[in-house]
Amino acid sequence: ADSFDEECDYLFKAVLIGDSAVGKSNLLSRFARDEFHLDSKPTIGVEFAYRNVKVGDKLIKAQIWDTAGQERFRAITSSYYRGALGALLVYDITRSPTFNSVKKWLTELRDFGNPDMVVVLVGNKSDLGHSREVDLEQGKSLAEAENLCFMETSALQNLNVEEAFLEMINRIHKITS
Ligand code: GDP
Ligand code: MG
Repeated sequence: ADSFDEECDYLFKAVLIGDSAVGKSNLLSRFARDEFHLDSKPTIGVEFAYRNVKVGDKLIKAQIWDTAGQERFRAITSSYYRGALGALLVYDITRSPTFNSVKKWLTELRDFGNPDMVVVLVGNKSDLGHSREVDLEQGKSLAEAENLCFMETSALQNLNVEEAFLEMINRIHKITS
């Protein structure tokens, strides 16, 4: 029921952003194909993935863009954000510098992105609680202060991944319909 050619009512573009190695590509492969990869390699050849999602009686094709490692060089260009209605802004709960970067990413979103973009803040790698550096409460309060949705996820254990993407897609649908 998830074929590319299926008739869709809407096509949404959304983007993944956040520091290098926080798990963006694995969140996407989990959501789009239910796959996880232990090694970290910059996305090769894949600019985006699709998944069809039913919201109410509408079929939405979500086109989710992934970086090809440009975030390492702060070289994400405005074309990456063009037309995007949503973003998952990801940090790694075991590395506080990736959380400290969230503000920088928000600035970039506000500079290049659509002003009403739906942003979900995602603290990934929740399975690594023993090496946690960012508390759940820190994520929550930043999200509240910046008016974002928030979720902790584990792409490895497939925890909350579906929920994070669906939250974004549902909110985009509410805004645009
Ligand atoms: P990206 O650079 O943000 O796209 O990050 P990747 O998806 O390439 O992941 C970076 C590394 O973190 C890889 O070694 C992944 O296997 C690992 N990783 C990604 N998500 C998780 C997670 O939820 N839990 C754990 N333990 N490792 C993860
Ligand atoms: Mg990647």
